[in-house]
Amino acid sequence: MSAAAGFAPRRDEPLFGRLAIIGIGLIGSSIARAAKELNLAGHIVLADRDEAVRRRARELDLGHEIAESAIQAVQDADLVILCVPVGACGPLAQEIADALKQGAILSDVGSVKHAVVEAVAPHVPAGVHFVPAHPVAGTENSGPEAGFPSLFLNRWCILTPPPGTDEAAIARTRRFWEGMAAMVEVMGSQHHDLVLAITSHLPHLIAYNIVGTAEDLGQVTHSEVIKFSAGGFRDFTRIAASDPTMWRDVFLANKEAVLEMLGRFNEDLAVLTRAIRYGDGETLHKHFTRTRAIRRGIVALGQEKAETEKLKQG
Ligand code: NAP
Repeated sequence: MSAAAGFAPRRDEPLFGRLAIIGIGLIGSSIARAAKELNLAGHIVLADRDEAVRRRARELDLGHEIAESAIQAVQDADLVILCVPVGACGPLAQEIADALKQGAILSDVGSVKHAVVEAVAPHVPAGVHFVPAHPVAGTENSGPEAGFPSLFLNRWCILTPPPGTDEAAIARTRRFWEGMAAMVEVMGSQHHDLVLAITSHLPHLIAYNIVGTAEDLGQVTHSEVIKFSAGGFRDFTRIAASDPTMWRDVFLANKEAVLEMLGRFNEDLAVLTRAIRYGDGETLHKHFTRTRAIRRGIVALGQEKAETEKLKQG
């Protein structure tokens, strides 16, 4: 058992018979590790399109079985979780649809929900329950080695079941995530996308942008940027190291909500720009006081430790 074992109680009886995880990256391998340690599924099978990743997953002893294909993995599975970039969920759902067992739960972990619901729902066969999920937990690292079993500990997992979804299936999916010590909330997919646009997607866009701007600066050398990257900038570089494919898909799939938040952001930035230009210290001080209170609220809610400034969500 890993050092992280004990972060949540191990179940005497598994919640699911067979769990299939498609995509052995940060999130897929973390679910596999947690579900195995905590006995959330009797048999855990993983699949990945890349032969080298499948080999590495076997070496890492992830789950109980590494399947050669997604179709093979989902045979007879009670819970299937798509752990691939948002843009890949629809095509993957289409590929596995005919192999899904009657009564199975199909879920995903995509950081954008409405586009995933629209892309996946048409392929879900009658008798299969589709319960989309988004664990608001992550790091900037990717691949099977990046995962760890306590990734979801005390983090939110948001479920966005389409209207009319079987309540028992929603309850079982909730118990699965709670079994990994996550806190679960249910909301509409469009509301999810609006909330995450401001809390996660926009901050990532800002990080990608500021690190690019620093790199482009002619008068400041590359080595100076690295040498003096204390505090704020260093955090931005960490966020800007997040997986390019995943984040490309997030911005393409959540276009409307991100553009809405970006519009508001630009308006507010114009107010701060003006205050700096005209030496309006009062406006700046008032603004910084308000935002400091928000930070303290987040720490008080237990979503972040005061001494760490890590933005860990996708
Ligand atoms: P990751 O470590 O990069 O793993 C991505 C996995 O998806 C890999 O197994 C990759 O296969 C597979 N994949 C990529 N494109 C594919 C395609 N077109 N068809 C089939 N498989 C494909 O990514 P991750 O961080 O685990 O992210 C997976 C999902 O979790 C994404 O939807 C993301 O939005 C969501 N999420 C991420 C975070 C985070 O912070 N990272 C947090 C919450 C939710 P290969 O092995 O061939 O590359």
